[in-house]
Amino acid sequence: MSDGAHVGLTASLFEQRMAWVSVSVVLFLLLLGVVALFLLMNKRKRKTISELLEQAKYVKSTQDELSNQNMRLNLLVGGMEVALWDCEISPEAESVEDMLSPDAAIWFSEGIREMFGYTGENDFPNVMRSWFDNIHPDDAEAVYTQTVAHLRDITNKTPFVFEIRMRMKNGQYKWVHIFGNTLRDANGKPLRTSGATEDISKRKDAEREIAEKSAELEIALHKAEAANKAKNSFLAKVSHEIRTPMSAIIGMAELALRESEKDADRERIIMIKQAGTHLLTIINDILDFYKIEEGKMEIVPGDYSVASLIEDVVGIIRTKMADSRLRFALMVDGKMPRSLFGDETRIRQIVLNILNNAVKYTREGFVSLGVYGEFIGGNMNLIFEVADSGIGIKPEDTDRLFSEFERFDQERNIGIEGVGLGLAITKSIVKAMGGGISVQSKYGEGSKFTVTVPQKYHSREPLAKVPNPDEKSLLIFERRAVYADSIAYSANNLGVRCSIVANGTDLYEKMKSRTYDYLIISHELLKEHEEKIAELGKDMRTVILAEFDEAIPKEYPNVMTMPAYCTHIANLLNGSEGRLTNAAHGKSDVSFSAAGTRVLVADDINTNLKVARGLLAPYKMQVDLVKSGMAAIEAVQSERYDLIFMDHRMPGMDGVETTQRIREMGEKDPYYKRIPIIGLTANAVTGVMEMLMENGFDDFLSKPIDTAKLDAILAKWIPKEKQEALL
Ligand code: ADP
Repeated sequence: MSDGAHVGLTASLFEQRMAWVSVSVVLFLLLLGVVALFLLMNKRKRKTISELLEQAKYVKSTQDELSNQNMRLNLLVGGMEVALWDCEISPEAESVEDMLSPDAAIWFSEGIREMFGYTGENDFPNVMRSWFDNIHPDDAEAVYTQTVAHLRDITNKTPFVFEIRMRMKNGQYKWVHIFGNTLRDANGKPLRTSGATEDISKRKDAEREIAEKSAELEIALHKAEAANKAKNSFLAKVSHEIRTPMSAIIGMAELALRESEKDADRERIIMIKQAGTHLLTIINDILDFYKIEEGKMEIVPGDYSVASLIEDVVGIIRTKMADSRLRFALMVDGKMPRSLFGDETRIRQIVLNILNNAVKYTREGFVSLGVYGEFIGGNMNLIFEVADSGIGIKPEDTDRLFSEFERFDQERNIGIEGVGLGLAITKSIVKAMGGGISVQSKYGEGSKFTVTVPQKYHSREPLAKVPNPDEKSLLIFERRAVYADSIAYSANNLGVRCSIVANGTDLYEKMKSRTYDYLIISHELLKEHEEKIAELGKDMRTVILAEFDEAIPKEYPNVMTMPAYCTHIANLLNGSEGRLTNAAHGKSDVSFSAAGTRVLVADDINTNLKVARGLLAPYKMQVDLVKSGMAAIEAVQSERYDLIFMDHRMPGMDGVETTQRIREMGEKDPYYKRIPIIGLTANAVTGVMEMLMENGFDDFLSKPIDTAKLDAILAKWIPKEKQEALL
């Protein structure tokens, strides 16, 4: 081979080799690319799988959570009798009206269908019509208008609420409570409205029942109020109607008593008067009871004299005790102020109620009244203690003692008057005064009632006083222990030395000592020891202690009638002579005469006019009587009166109108403004007194006319210069 050929051969070999290498490289690179691609693809594939796994896990947990929430919601909603609805508003809906159009879609839960008695979508399709077509006609318009307003208001983020009636499948209506809320886009356009519907028919039934019951109650209440009003006006009327003839009976009895001399007649008249007064007490008790029930019990305070309160009470109780053999003793604290400030009438009523009971429920022995003052700061507690040796009260009855209409031991107390109101009234009055009442009793032995009422006073000027008490001394010879004790109490209370002796020997012994100024002794014992007493008691004054109805011969000048108390003892020790009777005993209520005084009495009832004339007669005044308001006006125009008594109720022009007319006449002549006009009323119901005072009256007197009150009224209103004291 040639070199050229050899070179040529070598070059082509080289080219062949190079081409082979290039192919190999390309192939290798291709393989590399495939491997790299494979690897790359594999990696992506691995990543997608884990993502898918992750997503699957997430979906699962979300599904679990959703189903949990669904369960919870179903449980909650099921328990609440609430069903759900949801309305995804179609994007095509251009107006609110479109959103609510009958065919607009709305999803109702099965609960809603169940609520209204439907079974499936065929029955109650998921369209607005199902809803709006079944709303009660009375509610439909309001629901539609309000829903439209809610959806239209683009700023409205608050839920809407309705309580309406929906027709059920069976045609009946059911009350439901609808609650809904709306999701809006950024412009406020509603996207979705969802909510709940609750069956509230049970609540509505209950509400209706309550409303019906309330209406019934209201009617019943109105009826009761009307009945109560009628009862009160009936009571006021009855009280007036009964008190008017009672005034005549009691007044006439009083006049007859003054004029009759025969004992038998007097006895009968006294019985008429007592029965009348008793009947009046019952009427007053019943009126008081209703006043208390109505919360109209008023406490009207004023200044009053303790002595006259005691005298009044004693006078009344002694009359009650006239036929009994009971001993009545008084213990009165003489250091108490002479004059107190409080409601004297009510206090008298309290004390009389308890004392009356003591007398009623005690057949033998004693009844005593203690009146004490207890100073507390600038005020005083007035204490009344009423003790008796009567039938007593069983411990189990004491709790009910102050309840109304309670009476105990009915068989034992047969024939004893009473309705069981006295203590209930007493307790209410005491309470109204800020005081208290308590009782201690031993069945078969007796009782003690204690009443405490706070009272005010202006001056501490004492009720009774003895100037040099240590220079005085008393000796008491008395078998009636309650009397001896009560006199000894008064003496000690006044700071006076006092001894009680129980037999003749002790009496003589003490008298011989010549250290006593006074001997207080019963008539019976005085007669037994008369000679010796005359011999030993030359320097002493002997005073007979007498029962209030005991006749003591005239030769004994010094007599003290029981129940004596500190004032009588003080009078005795201060040198008063003669019959130291209790002022109420045999006392006439007429304290002065007023000849030259002219009085007018206006009353439509003849007997009342006669009673008035009779009661005014002892005053020696000129009394004119008229039977009507008109006649009263004519009378005041023709005569000048010092005082007018004007009946409250008269047919035609009544007392109030007549008085107003007389006062109007005062525009021209001041006499008509000045003349005292006293209202006469048989109406004891609260407020009458105030009403009279507001209508031109100056004072008032209740019928039947109490002679002591009449005397006080006359003394107050008749000019002093025309009054002449009676000695
Ligand atoms: P009345 O006396 O009208 O029945 P009260 O309310 O005054 O009514 O008294 C109620 C009851 O309390 C009386 O019925 C009587 O049984 C009893 N009672 C009251 N006071 C006494 C007393 N001093 N002694 C015994 N029992 C009394």
